[in-house]
Amino acid sequence: MAVAKVSLLDALHEHFGFDSFKGNQEKIIKNILSGKDTFVIMPTGGGKSLCYQLPALMSPGVALIVSPLIALMKNQVDLIRSYSSKDNVAHFLNSTLTKAQIKKVRSDLTSGKTKMLYVAPETLTKQENIDFFKELEISFIAVDEAHCISEWGHDFRPEYRRLREMIEMINPELPIIALTATATPKVQSDIVKNLELRTPEIFISSFNRPNLYYEIRAKRKKDLVIKDIVKFIHQHKGKSGIIYTLNRKTTEELADMLVANGIKSVAYHAGLDSTTRAGRQDMFLHEDVEVIVATIAFGMGIDKPDVRFVIHYNIPKSLENYYQETGRSGRDGLEGICLCFYSYKDVQKLEHLMRDKPLSEREMGAQLINETVAYAESSVCRRKVILHYFGEKYEGENCGKCDNCLHPKEKIEVKNRAFIVLKAIQQLEERFGTDYVVNIITGQSNPQITTFQHDKLEVFGEGKEFDAHFWNSLIRQMMLEGLIEKDIEEYGLLKITAKGNKFIKKPFSIWFSLNHQFDESDGGGEDEDGGTGETQASADPVLVEMLKELRKKVAKEKNLPP
Ligand code: ADP
Ligand code: MG
Ligand code: ZN
Repeated sequence: MAVAKVSLLDALHEHFGFDSFKGNQEKIIKNILSGKDTFVIMPTGGGKSLCYQLPALMSPGVALIVSPLIALMKNQVDLIRSYSSKDNVAHFLNSTLTKAQIKKVRSDLTSGKTKMLYVAPETLTKQENIDFFKELEISFIAVDEAHCISEWGHDFRPEYRRLREMIEMINPELPIIALTATATPKVQSDIVKNLELRTPEIFISSFNRPNLYYEIRAKRKKDLVIKDIVKFIHQHKGKSGIIYTLNRKTTEELADMLVANGIKSVAYHAGLDSTTRAGRQDMFLHEDVEVIVATIAFGMGIDKPDVRFVIHYNIPKSLENYYQETGRSGRDGLEGICLCFYSYKDVQKLEHLMRDKPLSEREMGAQLINETVAYAESSVCRRKVILHYFGEKYEGENCGKCDNCLHPKEKIEVKNRAFIVLKAIQQLEERFGTDYVVNIITGQSNPQITTFQHDKLEVFGEGKEFDAHFWNSLIRQMMLEGLIEKDIEEYGLLKITAKGNKFIKKPFSIWFSLNHQFDESDGGGEDEDGGTGETQASADPVLVEMLKELRKKVAKEKNLPP
């Protein structure tokens, strides 16, 4: 690629008015300018856009930038135009344009005035566009939000999977730069494979956001949670914040409650028409409201640097989502407070929401949810757990900016109690779920099941000095510790792992944090989309069927008898 001989810093200053590069930007830009495939993994707010915008401005031809959302495209193009004196330096091409607008875009492209063209993946699938792009001088293709390629990412978009196919048709030689704020190794390898990046140079930035404070709060009764939220917002009067909830109705209810408490706020969700959505997003960006109460439909690409807090009314469905959503606070590097209300009920709701999804998705979903549960219930530094999830090691002992570091949880030695749990599962021949096991331990007889003479079991009532909440919490933590697991085939039945069997033979000392507050909640009383009153232990018949199928499939692949 022929590049004009100006220093990168001069170009940065000339085009954007910035005095220095952030993080890996300069190295990344050099790599792109040398025509190599490039893979950029950088947290939200790190400055990914500039990594392709500057080389696009410096290279001959036009760069095609694939972006998943039409709203995002428009914001980006407006932003570039605000830096440049020429409006036609950047355009977007998507279904919102009129025939006349498309004609104008095409003529600017043909005459070489346009350096950046934002396209939706759908735009690329149209043959007439492909034929048109073939004739253009294209500098490179940037695939923004590249995690949309992967089902393991937090925002899978099937049409992203066809990008390679489209690029082949335009020009298979084009350099590709993929960008994402998703750092999980699984998503990364999906991206490289799917886009067929050619020995790409990979630039990974640290995901630590030192200015963010993380805290998990037990989610008790709905009115208490709302009181808690109102109090928190009053303490941060006039600051901008986002509240995320699981479902649409709750966004409305919560926003109303906040308004009733003198807090300017609006709801935002995908059920609103696009004009209302755009209007409310603007109200938030322009600070006509302090708080936006939203489903996950809100936020991607929102660049409001001074969001001071993000509150999760429900635990998100993956740690990745949590990271992305909390990441919208403190983008200016100043304070960002991330509160998450957690109860195990909400986890069951999430599981329930997946009930109609295909097998593979449910499998994945369950795994992702388990990781968030582990995070929420852990007594380890939040930062450490998040970074570990992204494959990064946090070296510090005490980050000083999370609840677990600032207020270490009370811990107790539970060797004997863990032993009781394992014994109970063993004596019940691994044929029951959590609720049943807990009933046995706490000495509740269950007349419905007569297979065993349960009150004759050694462990019957062995743990009655603690309540069911305590034992539920202990069992979850034992699962996280790998002492027990839920059966794959008959989901919900507790099984003892190899580690658990070792423990039975020779119990070792283990410490658990007291977490049963997470069991005492009613999940915020929010159940219209999910809560079924299902208990943690009940084996969901659909899931059982599904897992049976999976096992058959696996057996077949491995040539084992089903
Ligand atoms: P990302 O896409 O990684 O989330 P953006 O590209 O939206 O991040 O950039 C985040 C913010 O950082 C933007 O406001 C952008 O103008 C700013 N920014 C990017 N690069 C620089 C730089 N070199 N100097 C100062 N600000 C920068
Ligand atoms: Mg971006
Ligand atoms: Zn910490």
